[in-house]
Amino acid sequence: MKEVNASIITIGDELLIGQTIDTNSAFIAKELNKIGIWIKRKLAVADTKEEILSALDLQSKDSDIVIITGGLGPTADDITKPALCEFFKSELIINEGALENVKNIFKQLGRLVTDRNTKQAEVLSNCKVLENKRGTAPGMWFNHNDMIYVSLPGVPHEMKGLMVDAVIPEIRKTFALPAVVHKTLLTAGIGESDLADKLQDFEDSLPLHIKLAYLPSYGMVRLRLTAKNNDVHDLEPEVLEHFTTLKTITREWLVIDEDLSIQEAIFILLNERGKTLSTAESCTGGYIAHLITSIAGSSKIFNGSIISYANDVKTNLLKVDEKTLKEVGAVSEETVLEMLKGLLSQFNTDYGLATSGIMGPTGGSEEKPVGTVWIAVGKKGNMKAKKFKFRFDRKRNIELTAFAALNMLRKWILEEEAG
Ligand code: ATP
Repeated sequence: MKEVNASIITIGDELLIGQTIDTNSAFIAKELNKIGIWIKRKLAVADTKEEILSALDLQSKDSDIVIITGGLGPTADDITKPALCEFFKSELIINEGALENVKNIFKQLGRLVTDRNTKQAEVLSNCKVLENKRGTAPGMWFNHNDMIYVSLPGVPHEMKGLMVDAVIPEIRKTFALPAVVHKTLLTAGIGESDLADKLQDFEDSLPLHIKLAYLPSYGMVRLRLTAKNNDVHDLEPEVLEHFTTLKTITREWLVIDEDLSIQEAIFILLNERGKTLSTAESCTGGYIAHLITSIAGSSKIFNGSIISYANDVKTNLLKVDEKTLKEVGAVSEETVLEMLKGLLSQFNTDYGLATSGIMGPTGGSEEKPVGTVWIAVGKKGNMKAKKFKFRFDRKRNIELTAFAALNMLRKWILEEEAG
């Protein structure tokens, strides 16, 4: 079976000047990779016809599929469609279905459809139209010189919807693809190189068609087993067997045996047990609450947060003793434990988390340098605090504190259950 290659073109000046981070190509690459397609090249180009045409020429040399995002909008600088017309020697026509969609969207918004908006319903005459349920610009699928070209809007949620609903199913129908199975787990509390040492024998024992990938981020490491085979046979049982071994070797650090985030793992853990959480956040400023409340259904497990950034909020709302703050400071074991105690006496939750630290770049001292963090976790009558030392910039220190707190909570609950 021949390997199917794809390449990606993202269009927009804003991508080149760093105003918009190109998240589209990462998403597209991941989705294609999941179904066994190799990404040959990614190119970000300016909003000019010349750049788009030369990118199309380059990507056409060695790819089976070229996916293009951006520049389909109604503004004058959206140049993708004229460039595609030149490339395919085609012309623009109004697509009735797309026009209906534009009219419906404007009706819902209570706005009149202008000529500029009507142009959104223009598609190339040689394309198959991919209906955009989330926006006005439809996607376009082209079959040209034994290759597939797909043009998608740049707006990330529209592009994602079209990729998942239309492009991936259409690619599956068009190409004979290898069987691919991914199994992912998340670990915390062990670095990538230590993990690699522990997994050396396991990795060596894997058959050639199964690969192990290390994906580290925010003090955690995701491990992904990918099995790829051209012969049509069911890879699932074989991968599961290796995945079970992987879980056994990493059980001490295993957060969850699915491709989920630590906050999703916490949500599942608490939801399964019918337990609730609240947070008292100083240095994380509500970031832990944000991570949890970003999960649909989080009201089942999360009651609320007190963002006790200033000392008087710590004393007034959380009843931290002024003497404690004066004697040992806000970033101390005593303070986070008092914050947690105050939180649990006010919020009717099973568990609580409290954070206090120096996130930088200023505010550090010799005794408590930037990155010093105290985290407390527990329930009424049973609490524990731990000191952490992070060494990054403010944003990353906040993120690392939040993830460390969630992991501390997870471990604390499991240890408590184990007795
Ligand atoms: P629309 O139909 O809404 O006009 P479009 O196809 O013309 O969309 P663009 O005008 O290029 O798309 O971009 C729309 C929005 O999507 C902009 O906010 C842009 O910054 C964002 N965007 C475009 N390309 C990318 C990308 N590769 N990654 C992330 N965001 C992107």
